[in-house]
Amino acid sequence: MKIQFWGTRGSIPVPGKNTLKFGGNTPCVQVLSKNKELLILDGGTGIRELGDKILIDFPDGVEINILISHTHWDHIHGLLFFRPFYFDKYKINLFSNENNGMSVENILTAQMHPNFFPVSIDNFKAEVNYFPIAEKQNYFFEELQIKTINVHHSHGTLSFRVCEGDKNFVYMTDNELYYRPPEEYPALESIAKNNNDLIDFATGTDLLIHDSTFNVKDYPKRIGWGHSNNISAAMFAYLAKVKSLYLFHYDPIYKDEDIDALEKECLGKLRDLNADLFCKASYEGLALEI
Ligand SMILES: [Zn+2]
Ligand SMILES: [Zn+2]
Repeated sequence: MKIQFWGTRGSIPVPGKNTLKFGGNTPCVQVLSKNKELLILDGGTGIRELGDKILIDFPDGVEINILISHTHWDHIHGLLFFRPFYFDKYKINLFSNENNGMSVENILTAQMHPNFFPVSIDNFKAEVNYFPIAEKQNYFFEELQIKTINVHHSHGTLSFRVCEGDKNFVYMTDNELYYRPPEEYPALESIAKNNNDLIDFATGTDLLIHDSTFNVKDYPKRIGWGHSNNISAAMFAYLAKVKSLYLFHYDPIYKDEDIDALEKECLGKLRDLNADLFCKASYEGLALEI
């Protein structure tokens, strides 16, 4: 299974000289199975460039499954610029939790109201199907299998465990790892105690993509915002015995050097824990195979 990052930033796109290394696009991760089954996690602005690549790689059309973790702007605001929607040779299946009674179809239709966007949903030429998904379910595609769980974020936000044979990874963006007291440096025992269902969900995975919006110093000013700091993410990965951790969903105010520091602090913490765990700050364009 191949995994590629097309957007790693949280909240709002931040292009410019301060974000050249890690990129400024909002969340979008592409998954390609061995037989080229195509899955996309989230429709942040990174999905625009991915759409253009799909037009080149699959000129005769392909079925595309898009899973939306939740419908906050930063996870959907690239969708309307995903060009396969506007070609009849593509089949696009959109999966999302019906959050507060609003399906992703309702949300897309609202986004395409003429006050907000010049093109209406009637201009989609692709076959577009909408599927509600929920937590603690299994969804089976041809080769890929998805498991879901609710995370600590706005109501109904989902994390996905993606499996192909004996390979699997977890995409857990927009998740606040709890510990007490949250004003202080995280304690391993408290992370274990307050996040045990999520630890079970991620246990033993080959690769974990986890929210690392803040550094441990800035986090106390952001308690309750639904996002984690880098050290609690590292501890969580250690407790879940994952093989590798990729930091994700960075605060838009962070420059490249701040994200380098997030990674460095995590590596230091993992060394202190004697953890046999690879850790890297994800960046736009990073492509992996598990
Ligand atoms: Zn987000
Ligand atoms: Zn969010």
